[in-house]
Amino acid sequence: MSNQPKHPETLALHAGWRRDSATNSVAVPIYQTTSYQFDSAEHAAKLFGLQQLGNIYTRIMNPTNDVLEQRLAAIEGGTAALAVGSGQAASAFSVQNLAKVGDNFVCSTDLYGGTWNLFANTLKDQGIEARFVDPNDPEGFARATDDRTRAYYAETLPNPKLIAFPIAEVAAIGRSFGVPLIMDNTAAPLLVRPFDHGAAVVMYSTTKYIGGHGTSIGGIVIDGGNFDWEANPSRQPAMNTPDPSYHGAVWSQAAKPLGPIAYILKMRVTLLRDLGAAMAPMNAFLFIQGIETLPLRMREHSRNALAVANYLAGRKDVSRVIHPAHHKGIGAERTAKYLPHGHGGLMGFELAGGADAGRRFIDALKLFYHVANIGDARSLAIHPASTTHSQLTESEQAATGATPGYVRLSIGLEHIDDILADLSQALDAAKG
Ligand code: PLP
Repeated sequence: MSNQPKHPETLALHAGWRRDSATNSVAVPIYQTTSYQFDSAEHAAKLFGLQQLGNIYTRIMNPTNDVLEQRLAAIEGGTAALAVGSGQAASAFSVQNLAKVGDNFVCSTDLYGGTWNLFANTLKDQGIEARFVDPNDPEGFARATDDRTRAYYAETLPNPKLIAFPIAEVAAIGRSFGVPLIMDNTAAPLLVRPFDHGAAVVMYSTTKYIGGHGTSIGGIVIDGGNFDWEANPSRQPAMNTPDPSYHGAVWSQAAKPLGPIAYILKMRVTLLRDLGAAMAPMNAFLFIQGIETLPLRMREHSRNALAVANYLAGRKDVSRVIHPAHHKGIGAERTAKYLPHGHGGLMGFELAGGADAGRRFIDALKLFYHVANIGDARSLAIHPASTTHSQLTESEQAATGATPGYVRLSIGLEHIDDILADLSQALDAAKG
């Protein structure tokens, strides 16, 4: 075999696993255990002292989760990863790993609502300030940065606007300050590899495309291993000052014998140890199954969603189609730069008949599920103005992109003719 880096289709099936050393099992076993017998007192001391990596307790690590972590780290081009109990936990940990009371981080305004709430309220209550800036203006990140800024955070392909984030531009600004860019890549696995554009950390809600079948909640944080935490020690005190929670470890130093994994090692042995948002091994197994077909699924999601977008663009009762291939101006430039391999399965459209038509459309759908999730193998729809965004005023809804007649679709893997037939009959019904 050559030493060429393997393609994502191959990594999705092989990275991090060959067979079980005890049984030769080819499928990754579900290691449903809390604990691991130490070989000796010395072995136990070495594991706890981080002189040797190995299994201690499933709240902190598990062999099934380890395969998932290795596989996604390989696919993303990172060095190591940490699986956690949900995408929310992954978002929280990714920031908490660097920022403490009195610190801040700069994030895009275009975020999943749950992330917005986590940042604007829960992290604020913990003394960590989120500074929201418009992703259309990368320089906004520079203007919002001060001495206490520890990270930047954004989503690769945020809905409802579905304009790709300027990863390279903002990552470069961050690196000039010593600030790492954390990217939520939930909507675009395999379509975008944020590390290739200079991001330092990638996180996922694995609940969505990674799992792909709507069965399990999970999240993961991946270390790019490409950020020099020591270059500017006062910028990253959490990585460069003794950590009393791990007998004075200085993470940028302590991780050195283990490789460029300081960020994720710290997260595992402090935040995951203390806050306990561990992923169940059963869920890790289901995510591994999902990854096996992820390359195929992302191709098919992208193909079906583009066909739906093109169909809707030709209907008179649809006033606007929101899809990465249908943008003009800066949105189109970002699509060309960041999404050359496909646009993903998310899209939206605006019904000319406004909110009432939106509600009638949703009620008339027969094949599409009416759910708040995205990234399922099945096609999904939601009318944000009457559900997820109903607490906002109309002008607030407009600012987020969720206008009264806006419908969000997560296009699945059904035959395109059946998807279009359902949309067509529901649009006819929505005319009232
Ligand atoms: N990030 C994005 C882009 C999401 O869409 C979601 C969930 O919808 C999350 C994070 C949170 O993930 P989870 O629901 O797995 O906690």
